[in-house]
Amino acid sequence: TLSDRLTSVLSNLRGKGRLSEADIDATCREIRIALLEADVALPVVRSFIGQVKQRAKGAEVSQALNPAQQVVKIVNEELIGILGGETRRLNLAKNPPTVIMLAGLQGSGKTTLAGKLARWLAGQGHTPMLVAADLQRPNAVTQLQVVGERAGVPVFAPEPGNGVGDPVDVARRSIDEARRAQHDVVVIDTAGRLGIDEEMMRQAADIRDAVQPNETLFVVDAMIGQDAVTTAEAFRDGVGFTGVALTKLDGDARGGAALSVRQVTGQPILFASNGEKLEDFDVFHPDRMASRILGMGDLLTLIEQAEQAFDAKQAEEAAAKIGSGELTLEDFLEQMLAVRRMGPIGNLLGMLPGAGQMKDALAQLDEKHLDRVQAIIRGMTPQERADPKIIKGSRRARIARGSGVSVSEVNDLVDRFFEARKMMQQMAGRFGMPGVGGGRR
Ligand code: GDP
Ligand code: MG
Repeated sequence: TLSDRLTSVLSNLRGKGRLSEADIDATCREIRIALLEADVALPVVRSFIGQVKQRAKGAEVSQALNPAQQVVKIVNEELIGILGGETRRLNLAKNPPTVIMLAGLQGSGKTTLAGKLARWLAGQGHTPMLVAADLQRPNAVTQLQVVGERAGVPVFAPEPGNGVGDPVDVARRSIDEARRAQHDVVVIDTAGRLGIDEEMMRQAADIRDAVQPNETLFVVDAMIGQDAVTTAEAFRDGVGFTGVALTKLDGDARGGAALSVRQVTGQPILFASNGEKLEDFDVFHPDRMASRILGMGDLLTLIEQAEQAFDAKQAEEAAAKIGSGELTLEDFLEQMLAVRRMGPIGNLLGMLPGAGQMKDALAQLDEKHLDRVQAIIRGMTPQERADPKIIKGSRRARIARGSGVSVSEVNDLVDRFFEARKMMQQMAGRFGMPGVGGGRR
């Protein structure tokens, strides 16, 4: 799947201390192939890759993130961008009822979505009503009635026995009924055809003119891939729509439609449907979809936290000292506090691909232990922190007494500090860059 491909492309970068132009080009080539295989429309792929490449090459050297993390961050931000950026809320009418019209091909999931949307609206404290304006197929009205019953929402339908009613008339009358019965939202289900068809477009446009919807949602089956774009363009030109509802995301392993539709039509995705049950429905959040596509939820959270917790200047200074073997206990303490600001240490260490040289040294410590380490270092004089070599027997006993620990704990800490310093100096030499990053290969 797209997610697997992207994950593997990006994890190939992991452990690189620095990315060359060739690395970035190769990565972008892989991402491009992954997107095309996922059926993302070519113009969308092109502009996406262009953006990622430009940003990756121009990226400033970050103190908080290693190069692989930076590329993940850029790809994620660009994904969110093509998915629409911010979550788009439903437009509600100032004077109820709010009218929502659903349009789309037959089988795209309109009737199912009508029920889901109505149920969701009711859950939000609205008093929705469903409207059966699909009078094309014999069973369409009954199907909506069943859905409405399940959702616990009333359905407005033409009276039976009058032959085939006029969908435009049904839609128009439904607004009066909503006003009378005080339904604040009306969801109109319309007819679709298997292919794009002029008569269907005209009917949808007539309904639109009759009810002046606040939102016209183009309902599209995510599984149709590239065709989603063609269909979306036809509906945009024939009926016009203000938003998109993506359905059958549960069956879409590729993600192409989600990534193309927004960019190609210029209209936001409002809702996502991912199953046959009424509950399989949610507001569409571009950022969540992006991290689902990237399949790196944990890593993305971590990147955010690392950036927030990290004091770049401090890190730079520490990095320089590590390279020259001059790291002090004061630095050790500061770095430890920076890592701690990222959250509970237990959560972090497991998923940390390279958030600091202190990782290995800290890996053996639990939270309680860290408190004691902090106490010990605080119990030292500035001179001792700056030049730990002078911490000999009598000083150790004094520090232990002052910070309420045993002498062997002080010994432990000092030993571990020297070990860590040596190890970090070696690592800094090996990766040719002393800063944060690199991490385990
Ligand atoms: P309409 O012709 O546009 O009204 O489409 P329907 O609502 O009748 O849906 C067509 C078929 O797709 C039905 O069998 C639905 O159960 C199914 N369906 C609708 N939405 C989803 C979805 O999100 N996931 C899955 N797996 N099936 C869906
Ligand atoms: Mg239907």
